[in-house]
Amino acid sequence: MAKKKSPVLKILGFVFCLLLGAACSFVALAWVSLPDSYEIPQSTTGSTPNPSNGQLDVETIKGQDLSIHFLELGNKYTGDCTFIKSGNTEMLIDAGSRESSVPVISNYINQYCTDGILEYVVVTHAHQDHYAGFATSSGKDSIFDIYKVNLIIEFAKTNKADTATMQANYIREKGEAKDSAGNQTKVVTALDCVNGTNEAQRTYDLSSNVNFTILYHEFYEQEASSENDYSVCLIVNQTTSAGDKHYLFTGDLEKDGEESLVSSSKNEGYLYEVEVYKAGHHGSKTSSSEALLKKVKPKKVCVCCCAGSSEYTSKNENQFPTQIFINRIAEFAETDQVFVTSLCIDYKNAQFTSMNGNIVISCSFATATTYVNCSNNNTILKETDWFKNNRTVPPQWQ
Ligand SMILES: [Zn+2]
Repeated sequence: MAKKKSPVLKILGFVFCLLLGAACSFVALAWVSLPDSYEIPQSTTGSTPNPSNGQLDVETIKGQDLSIHFLELGNKYTGDCTFIKSGNTEMLIDAGSRESSVPVISNYINQYCTDGILEYVVVTHAHQDHYAGFATSSGKDSIFDIYKVNLIIEFAKTNKADTATMQANYIREKGEAKDSAGNQTKVVTALDCVNGTNEAQRTYDLSSNVNFTILYHEFYEQEASSENDYSVCLIVNQTTSAGDKHYLFTGDLEKDGEESLVSSSKNEGYLYEVEVYKAGHHGSKTSSSEALLKKVKPKKVCVCCCAGSSEYTSKNENQFPTQIFINRIAEFAETDQVFVTSLCIDYKNAQFTSMNGNIVISCSFATATTYVNCSNNNTILKETDWFKNNRTVPPQWQ
């Protein structure tokens, strides 16, 4: 005679079937919501070295909804160049550090930009380590000669451009720039964007889920004691399945400009906590102030510099990235996820190498995971030999 199942067993069996059904539905839903082209990137974290030391997987990065690339510039000089891609829209923020960087930059971005069009170019300020690639001497290709550019957003003010000759070159080159329709490229200032003058917009779309907003600070209008404080600042905003993500670019803005940026944002509401912050002014002690870091609390910080170079000072602790910058990131940003493009070996003899190399941050709507994928390795700053030999570990990083 068959035994009758107890009621408790029946209930347990029912619950088990329910859980199994729910799990199967979840897996099926997750499967269909991933895009066909999605692949897991080769190296995905900021905390472990990339053992392969390999090349970036370009196709994987191209498949992400947003990628942000902090570029090495092919010489011993510190400088900025950030390439941003979302869908078929490409954007360049600055093109340092010297004329010789132009082919280095174009060779890199041609992997991602196949139509020869940069929809947006931002020129943060008139220092050669940021705009040399736009301001080449006549006869040498500038970024504006190599690409069609649909819109240039430039600094609203300058009073000590590097140098008068370079500024003249910049004015000539941007005047010759052409857009994708063959017309002269439209040029607006950051102040035009804020005020809506000259048909400029405050926010521009990169794709359906990604846009950028020009942020306001007073030195778009007021005299600044430092040319750096004229820097164009912007925030990239991305909608993902797990909420919005933000990425902050402040050029070489220094403490006064940062304080104005933060106080202006109280009324405007465009400045958020950010996923990634491009370290202001290459990790200088005069930028990345407490006020800014407390406001934006970056999860990751990318420094564009040739670490430990004596280009600007022989005093070790003030060479980029400076000890004071590191201390403030550790204390107020509360992250140790700091990445640096290049490493100086011997400035006088022009010897340099990659630190992390080209740093690529990428994120897609579906997974909402922020990937760090560097061309040399993914070692965070505090774990590098350079840091161990030249910097003191802040207490928060111990
Ligand atoms: Zn700079």
